[in-house]
Amino acid sequence: MAKRNSIINAFMKKCPRCQEGDLFIKPFEFSKPLNMPDHCPVCNQKFLPEPGFYYGAMFLSYIFSGFFFLAVVGVCILVFKLSLNASMVVMLLIAAATYFFFLRMSRAIWINLLIKYDPDAKAKKEVKAFGY
Ligand SMILES: [Zn+2]
Repeated sequence: MAKRNSIINAFMKKCPRCQEGDLFIKPFEFSKPLNMPDHCPVCNQKFLPEPGFYYGAMFLSYIFSGFFFLAVVGVCILVFKLSLNASMVVMLLIAAATYFFFLRMSRAIWINLLIKYDPDAKAKKEVKAFGY
């Protein structure tokens, strides 16, 4: 399989090394939104390469959601001519609706940034922390 773009791969929530295994356990459970298997079911890539690995994902989530909600409030005020308080209510509703999306997406992007694609990963099935 040809290499898929890492950003698209992160949006699809697939393993960064083989781009086939799912990063999160399905079906989604509200009580366990970050339920990930220990290893990729296809290539054995570790999904928690080291303790605190996803600490950096928190910063990604903060950056993405910060700019996203700034844009939401900007559109509400400038395009729909809502008051600041009404814009905040709209923003909070959208924040509640997109909470799990940003939570999982930041983890998926973080692991896709730090672990490289390996076209032979599926055949090798080595247990690896990082892709080198
Ligand atoms: Zn994999």
